[in-house]
Amino acid sequence: MNVLAIGAHPDDIELGCGAALLAHGQAGHAVTMLVMTAGLGPAEQRARPEEQEEAAALLRARLEWGGFEDGRIPPDGPAVQVIESTIARTGAEVIYTHAPGDSHQDHRAVAAATAAAARRTQRVLCYESPTSLGFSPTHFVDADGLVEAKLGLIRAHLSQVMKNGLVDLEAVEAQARFRGFQARVRHAEAFEATRFVWEIPQLRHTEEQVSALKKESAL
Ligand SMILES: [Zn+2]
Repeated sequence: MNVLAIGAHPDDIELGCGAALLAHGQAGHAVTMLVMTAGLGPAEQRARPEEQEEAAALLRARLEWGGFEDGRIPPDGPAVQVIESTIARTGAEVIYTHAPGDSHQDHRAVAAATAAAARRTQRVLCYESPTSLGFSPTHFVDADGLVEAKLGLIRAHLSQVMKNGLVDLEAVEAQARFRGFQARVRHAEAFEATRFVWEIPQLRHTEEQVSALKKESAL
């Protein structure tokens, strides 16, 4: 399975769906991360691209950059084109992106651009962020046993973890437990689904079962 995770800034993806991406990786799925900006604002944030590369290496994910300016991601045109071409190039079957309700303009823009670019994708899940507004999850990914590794991914973004009150590892851990409680598992990540086609695993009948079924239908 080909998985694409899209985030506005370095660390958005890990916070929103780090555990889901770890699970995809363990299942042997090909994971690509598309980070739309390098998060370069003040001089002290210069470390962010390197930190993103470290987190992608931990996930064994392919890392791509959208090349937009921090704070100025457009919700249409060029951003839609970048996401569309990444979907085509990676053959993405599952897409993770920002949820539309968010106080950060870049997060809202990425949510809108993804909705347009992924109009033909059958599975689009929107993750929450520390700046989400009115997030109301409909889908959950079981994150049991993956929370420590998820915290490790976020720790790779040290410059943010150290300076940014919005990235709080204790809160991330508590959030995983609370979302797990809502999902009736121990730990979980939560999503709003734009679209989610559920493929029920096909039941394989034995030859005996097939002939019994044929007899039954002949009656
Ligand atoms: Zn962000």
